[in-house]
Amino acid sequence: MKYFGIKATETDLADVERLGDGITRLEDAVTNLRQREAGITQSVNPPKFIMKHYVGEFMRQVGVELSPITVPYPVYVFEYVSAGGNSSQRTIVTLNRQTIDAMIETMSQRIRFRKSVAGQRALMTSRLRSMIKARDNHTCRYCSISIAAEPHLLLEVDHIIPVSKGGLTAPENLQTLCWRCNRAKSNKVISR
Ligand SMILES: [Zn+2]
Repeated sequence: MKYFGIKATETDLADVERLGDGITRLEDAVTNLRQREAGITQSVNPPKFIMKHYVGEFMRQVGVELSPITVPYPVYVFEYVSAGGNSSQRTIVTLNRQTIDAMIETMSQRIRFRKSVAGQRALMTSRLRSMIKARDNHTCRYCSISIAAEPHLLLEVDHIIPVSKGGLTAPENLQTLCWRCNRAKSNKVISR
């Protein structure tokens, strides 16, 4: 997901699911073809030694092209070599159904996490906090006190609609408050 730029979003998840569906259809088609070949073999019921030694010849005679067909799974090799070149590590990932299923599972979990209270809290990074404070000119949105007026003022970033009430960690739901106003607000929310 990291190296191919696949994000845990619903759009990317839908793409991966489509890919999984495509591969599943291809696998089913190959299985179906094999079963047909087996069916032909059974219906003709040639002696065992023919099937053992002359299977290609036999199939050609009955007009069946024996298919060496397999699903062409893309294979990715990730190789890490240390700066000095002394150690290396190699991981091979085959993009087959198991890999895709595991990816779908991981993506769904991350999307679910994002939507959860814990996920929303995790999105509240220090980078986002600085961004919101800068956006609000380092000024409390309630009482308008600012860093300019009070250099040691403690500013906090508050969820306008609390996360516990379904509020999102997104710029439009965030505001800068001084610690006093923020305490006053949380007391109100709790007592409500
Ligand atoms: Zn304030």
